[in-house]
Amino acid sequence: MSAKPRMARKMIAEGAASVVLREMKIEGLRVDPIEIATRKGIAVEAKPSTVQGVSGMLVKAGDNFGILYATHVSSKGFQKFCVAHELGHYCIEGHANALLAHGPHYSHAHFTSNDPFEMEADHFAAALLMPEVPFRKEANRNDPGLTAIETLARDCETSLTATAIRYAGLTRDAVAVILSTGPSIDWCFMSEGLKQAKKLEWIRKGTPVPSGTATESFNAQAENVRLGKKDSSDGRLNDWMGGERVYRITEEVVGLGQYGRTLTVLTCETLIAQANGDESDEDGEAELVESWTPKFRR
Ligand SMILES: [Zn+2]
Repeated sequence: MSAKPRMARKMIAEGAASVVLREMKIEGLRVDPIEIATRKGIAVEAKPSTVQGVSGMLVKAGDNFGILYATHVSSKGFQKFCVAHELGHYCIEGHANALLAHGPHYSHAHFTSNDPFEMEADHFAAALLMPEVPFRKEANRNDPGLTAIETLARDCETSLTATAIRYAGLTRDAVAVILSTGPSIDWCFMSEGLKQAKKLEWIRKGTPVPSGTATESFNAQAENVRLGKKDSSDGRLNDWMGGERVYRITEEVVGLGQYGRTLTVLTCETLIAQANGDESDEDGEAELVESWTPKFRR
């Protein structure tokens, strides 16, 4: 493949990860990407990053491949993701040819790049390190929210942010996971359950953190973020992403320490009820009645 794909092919990237897991007969939640690379004959080496923002490299010398991963972020979860991202370039059809034609490939992993190759390698890494079947099972065994994400991050040994994104993609519950820096939102991922809410507006990069939310007051004190503090509060989904009627949510907030960012998890229990087939809601109810919530809790 010589031309870049116009859009990241998430399914293809995730499929490539499934093939590797099957090949290697890996069935649990804890996956070691260095072991996988080694079994594939790829040399893996840790290296302090010399180029700002570069998370790792894939290099090819003759027929031999090597992976270098950055250690400027000390988190094991981050480092594993970087190795898995490079493995993605090795395993996803077309990547090696396209990326290594003119020397090594420098990566920007961890959902920070809009480049389709980088996004595909990130999807591969997420699917490899958080295998769908056991991850989904574990996600649905826990009450929705931050604790479920923390449990999965510990089980998979993955970063809280990567785990949160995967969680939003696989849980049947109605959640949104949002990353913010100070007053500004970096990204937001919504679960299928949450998308049951009508007329939601997608949150775009750079959107301000809505005023009056727990996240806004949390981020106002940089110390909360740096010290990894937590907060939670009841709120309205509407404050974040509009919607046709009032959706009550729980808002959980955690500071991500040296990363300088904040993870917010919005959980909407009423939409969980809807997604599970409770049809007590009626289309066409014009009023945004605050008191409608209890009718799902009968
Ligand atoms: Zn890359």
